[in-house]
Amino acid sequence: MKLEKEISHLKKSVKTNYRNFPMVPRVIYGRGSFDQLADILLPKRRNSDAPFIFLVDDFFEGKELADRVPWLFNDRTIFISADEEPKTQQVDALVNKIKEDFEELPSGIVGIGGGTLLDLAKAVSIMLTNSGPSYAYQGWDLVNRPSLYHVGVPTISGTGAEVSRTTVLLGPEKKLGINSDYTTYDQIILDPDLLGTVPKEQWFYTGMDCFIHCVESLNGTFLNAFSESYGEKAYDLCKEVFLGELPGAEAEEKLMMASWHGGMSIAYSQVGIAHAMSYGLSYVLGTKHGIGNCLVFQHLDAYYPEGVNLFKQMMQKHHIQLPTNVCAELNDCDMDTMVNVALSMEPLWENALGKDWKKRVTPDMLKSIYRKI
Ligand code: NAD
Ligand code: ZN
Repeated sequence: MKLEKEISHLKKSVKTNYRNFPMVPRVIYGRGSFDQLADILLPKRRNSDAPFIFLVDDFFEGKELADRVPWLFNDRTIFISADEEPKTQQVDALVNKIKEDFEELPSGIVGIGGGTLLDLAKAVSIMLTNSGPSYAYQGWDLVNRPSLYHVGVPTISGTGAEVSRTTVLLGPEKKLGINSDYTTYDQIILDPDLLGTVPKEQWFYTGMDCFIHCVESLNGTFLNAFSESYGEKAYDLCKEVFLGELPGAEAEEKLMMASWHGGMSIAYSQVGIAHAMSYGLSYVLGTKHGIGNCLVFQHLDAYYPEGVNLFKQMMQKHHIQLPTNVCAELNDCDMDTMVNVALSMEPLWENALGKDWKKRVTPDMLKSIYRKI
């Protein structure tokens, strides 16, 4: 009886509303570490008929990195363009093709590229073990079965997709992640040598995704010591990379780690206004995540004064010119859709403005920001 009482007391004292989120269990960091991929995959190969499928950004087609992919048996590389963000239809088509072409389920999936390829590889590994269509899993904790073993190799830094438990997909009705414990990578390889070919503007836009993650996390109402510790580190690294005078190699290494820490920071808090509004831009105009965040963020000085000020200094230092008149041609209907998509990202607004955010933000306020873009 005494024991039962103690157990019941213990149960009452345990708060069950804290999130218990997964982290990437294995990570290799270092220049040239990509060449360890063969050794990492070997023990995961079930048999010679169960291949590894390498989903690789098509920028690398015909390049040296594609030749270093450690093929064995009937492994296959599929080159994929990152010109557009991943779509649920694209995930379903890839999964069907893999199922048609191979009798056995693959041993695993390896994603090599930026956020686009990293997200595609996560989604494909989920959908190979869960019945489709993938849009049915857009949301929170809808995935029932563990995903296939999956490895991520980032080739550009900033999104934090390498650590997050989401894969952001454009579906028939919404742009939303498959957020689940099975989404997170089983293994990540962080090899700064792979970053050398990133074009300067793309480097800036994807890097600013990380900077904006930090600003939104550190200024949000969801902030806690866990998120703050990662967010502050990433924020400082971004300042060193984008405002300091680091040699190129050191800047690559630091931005790679900033991306990681920025992703860890938002895992236990949330992003904010720039991300909510960038989702609207992306849904209506197909604007990509990094540049979309920058387009919005430049006008958010009322909400994030210090961050926007630093952002403008970074733009100036790197001679970045953002496009203008992006929303100029939008009709009222498109503008309303954009505002509705942005406002539907409720946790982001709550993080940014607090529980009573609905009293503090109106469609007209959002329209006036969009019109400046
Ligand atoms: P990206 O993957 O879209 O790639 C951007 C461009 O850079 C592409 O043209 C690509 O070919 C090129 N590129 C990538 N690596 C290169 C290299 N080493 N050399 C030369 N070119 C290279 O870029 P991104 O900004 O990393 O990813 C954006 C995507 O990430 C969006 O789809 C967004 O929704 C997603 N995202 C996901 C999360 C998450 O937690 N899952 C978080 C933020 C963003
Ligand atoms: Zn982001």
